[in-house]
Amino acid sequence: MNKARGSTSEATPRGGAVAGAVVWPVPVDVGSLSDDRLRDRLGVIGRAESCLSAMKAQTLAELARRHSPVEAGRIARQETRSSKRAARTEVETAGRLAGLPATSDALGAGVIPAGHARLIARAAAEGPIDESLMVQAATHQDYDTFARTMARHQHEASGDDGHALHERRRERRSARVFTRPESGMFVLSAEFDPITGAHIDTVLAAKVRELWNQEDPKARRSSQQRTADALAELILEPEKGKTAGTALLVVADYDVVNQQLTDARLSDGTPIPAAELVRLACDADILPGVYRAATQEMNLGRKRRTATTTQRAALTYRDQHCIGCGTTAHRCFAHHIKFWSEGGPTDLANLALVCNDCHHNIHDHHWTVTHNPHTNRWHTHPPPDPFPTHGTTNTPPPPQTNPILRK
Ligand SMILES: [Zn+2]
Repeated sequence: MNKARGSTSEATPRGGAVAGAVVWPVPVDVGSLSDDRLRDRLGVIGRAESCLSAMKAQTLAELARRHSPVEAGRIARQETRSSKRAARTEVETAGRLAGLPATSDALGAGVIPAGHARLIARAAAEGPIDESLMVQAATHQDYDTFARTMARHQHEASGDDGHALHERRRERRSARVFTRPESGMFVLSAEFDPITGAHIDTVLAAKVRELWNQEDPKARRSSQQRTADALAELILEPEKGKTAGTALLVVADYDVVNQQLTDARLSDGTPIPAAELVRLACDADILPGVYRAATQEMNLGRKRRTATTTQRAALTYRDQHCIGCGTTAHRCFAHHIKFWSEGGPTDLANLALVCNDCHHNIHDHHWTVTHNPHTNRWHTHPPPDPFPTHGTTNTPPPPQTNPILRK
């Protein structure tokens, strides 16, 4: 911590017997702080939140030990006015954290966020993990990256190629439909194992893209409305069929020595047990991520504007997710790096995966796309700041709103 910044102190509050240097935010007038100070302040608040979570977990675990988890949940609801569901989850996590000293210490010291600690606690309950290795990763990885790290680690540490873990998740699948009395709205709520989920998500996202393409660009639905419409259409009008790009992309390495596929995974890196890969291979809707990038199919030139399923698969394999913000691949568009409107070809080398928001930034807000030849990765960059100093009266350039260019 930078002590020179007056917004923080390193004093531990009275009674806060928690390991590590605990930092507490001091109330200040946020309107008087610079961006840098606000940024620092958020960091301090985050660490303080971690520390409080650790204290809460210790308290709940002690109550559960003295009485029962149910009683601990009841007291938590009374004292913190949390919902029954939230209280139950907190008591459950607290019980798990009590058996994970390295995670509890790191949380108490404010070096890992509460969400990361919950992931470790959940994974430890699901099967064997190397706790200290995961705590180490949690200290510097953002939540999404850490969730992927954890998924890979669980698979590696499982001792059975992730088979039992996958089976347990399959067993936990559930769906319910009901009408919510307060709103009169029909609710559809479901949970699936990650592989089934990825397949459903792929089909749903393809329908969402189809609806987006059919929309009047001047009168777009919200993304939630579009997803709801896509779901309704898939269920109510199955005769319309699934759209292109609904195959679940499975990536695997080929072990030349043993002549078999190894390290099978979903495009986001979620590992797939070998037994599950065999089952998936019998499904016609699975697209093997084995292809030759040099084939004619990867370079369509000006013959066709939208990417083919094979091109999308190759793009997903290369880019993995939105090149701008990391949004999952099947929510992305195949963007023409040299715009189609400017003669750009539909060739793999001229395409990059971008989500709706990043696509919008590129076409309407002058973001640029660059390639790093060393990593073979594409990246987006914001335009130079039009207001380098505060108080200028310059107006920003008008956004590019021509709908033809939004592709
Ligand atoms: Zn994006």
